[in-house]
Amino acid sequence: DNAQPKKPAWIRVKAPGSAEYKRTRDIMRENKLVTVCEEAGCPNVGECWSQGHATMMIMGEICTRGCTFCNVATGRPDTLDAFEPGRVAHAVDKLGLKHVVITSVDRDDLDDGGADHFAQTIRAVRHRSPDTTIEILTPDFLKCAPSALETVVAARPDVFNHNLETVPSLYPTVRPGARYFHSLRLLQRVKELDPGMFTKSGIMVGLGEDAQSVRQVMDDMRSADVDFLTIGQYLQPTPKHHRVDSFITPDEFKSYEKAAYGKGFLMVSATPLTRSSYHAGDDFARLRDA
Ligand code: SF4
Ligand code: SF4
Repeated sequence: DNAQPKKPAWIRVKAPGSAEYKRTRDIMRENKLVTVCEEAGCPNVGECWSQGHATMMIMGEICTRGCTFCNVATGRPDTLDAFEPGRVAHAVDKLGLKHVVITSVDRDDLDDGGADHFAQTIRAVRHRSPDTTIEILTPDFLKCAPSALETVVAARPDVFNHNLETVPSLYPTVRPGARYFHSLRLLQRVKELDPGMFTKSGIMVGLGEDAQSVRQVMDDMRSADVDFLTIGQYLQPTPKHHRVDSFITPDEFKSYEKAAYGKGFLMVSATPLTRSSYHAGDDFARLRDA
C-alpha cells in the first residue's frame, strides 16, 4: 500500500517573498552559490531567507550518492571550482552573517572526499569575517584516509555537524551507501581530535522508525560525545522519493526533546519543521552567551 498519510495542520509553510528574502536570493545568484534551502525544497525557506539565514552547498549540485529522502541529483559531479571558497566568503560578508552553515554534496569521486575544499572554504570565511561562527555539515568521508577528516577539523570550524539521518535499521532503504557505525565513529573522532569543538547530529522521523530506536540513536550519539541534536519530520520532496510513513505529532516531538535533554545533549531542536540548519545561529549564540 503506497497511500501516504495526509499532511497535518502543524506542517505549515510560509510563502517566500519579503524584500529580505529577495536580497538573500540575489546575493546567492550573484555569487553563483547553491543553497540546500532551494535544492532540498526546505519548508523554512521563506522564514530563514527573510532573516538572511541560508545554508550554502559547496562542491557542486550533483552528488555521488543517492539517498532516497534527498532531492539533490545523483550522477557524475562537477569539477571543483577553486574560486568557490572565495565566493562563499564574499557572500557571508555581504549577508552580514553572525553564523553560517556550510554543507556539501558527497564526493566519493575525490580521494579526500572534498576535505581540502571544505578546509579552504572555512579558512576563507574566517579570514574575511573573523567574528562569524562557522558550522559545517559534512559528508561521511567513508572511502577516505583518516587524514581527510583531520584536514577539516584542523581548519577549526566552530560546530562540526554530520547527520545520522535515521535509525540503523532503515539505512539500507533510506541511506544506501552509508554506514551507521561509520558515521557515528566519525562524530566521535572529531571530538577526539579537538575536544573543544562542538559536534552536532540529527535525524528525520516519520520514515518508519519506532520511538525506541530513536532513543537508542540518542544514546549512541551521546556515547560518541555529540553535543547538539536536531530531530525533524521527514517530508517527501517528490513522489519518487521515500514515502512518509507517519507524521509525528508535536507532543511526540516534545517527548523526544525532553528525553534528549535528559541524556545530556547541550542543545536540542525537535519540532516538525526542525532542519539541521534551522535557527542554528540563534541556538548557538544563546549557548555561547549562557
Ligand atoms: Fe535553509 Fe536550513 Fe533554513 Fe531550511 S532550515 S531554509 S535549509 S537555513
Ligand atoms: Fe543528498 Fe547528502 Fe545523500 Fe548526497 S549524500 S544524496 S546530498 S543526503
